[in-house]
Amino acid sequence: MNDRKTAESALKDTSGESHGDSRAKASPIEVRKVDQERIARAIREILLAIGEDPDREGLKDTPRRVARTYAELFSGLHVDAREHVRKFFTEKYDEIVLVRDIAFCSVCEHHLMPFMGKAHVAYLPNGRVVGLSKLARVVEVLARRPQVQERMTEQIAELLLEELQAKGVAVVIEAVHTCMTVRGVRKPGSLCVTSAMKGAFRSNPSTRAEVLTLIYGDRK
Ligand SMILES: [Zn+2]
Repeated sequence: MNDRKTAESALKDTSGESHGDSRAKASPIEVRKVDQERIARAIREILLAIGEDPDREGLKDTPRRVARTYAELFSGLHVDAREHVRKFFTEKYDEIVLVRDIAFCSVCEHHLMPFMGKAHVAYLPNGRVVGLSKLARVVEVLARRPQVQERMTEQIAELLLEELQAKGVAVVIEAVHTCMTVRGVRKPGSLCVTSAMKGAFRSNPSTRAEVLTLIYGDRK
């Protein structure tokens, strides 16, 4: 439910207007870029291939349903994540800004199975700050495409470093990969953690320690 709302508002933001209100109606324009008819045909093929009857009652609408689901899961492919952080404010604040526990759901590009978890995104401003929700938007847009967690982590960090011209950016992502928990090695509960440290978070051990304490501090 929440995911859907976020996806829709992320799409809406690409229209270039009213960046403030995420409750406004979403524009379906971007979703149309995903060819749902084609997905539905392919899903029907998959059902046949596994020996199912795609015409039985329970499966009748499945190809269409899956097509809509995919359109949503991959909606970030057609959105420029940078748009969300182009609007910044000039502030003297020069301490760490951290948004912790940004929930996301992405799709592993090797198995087309979801991986989901939390992203922690921090930056050290250099005169530019953005609305805190924009950091979550960047995560959302980059998650909603075929991904690998390592690349997604790096993409978020690079994008923020460039757009905000920040003194440093730190991104830590913790996720459960269903391609590991329900198939293959089947290790339920395993958590994959990736991090990207840029600028001061990479070069200055105490700055890095500070952000890691902010992220993990009360969990130990
Ligand atoms: Zn996978």
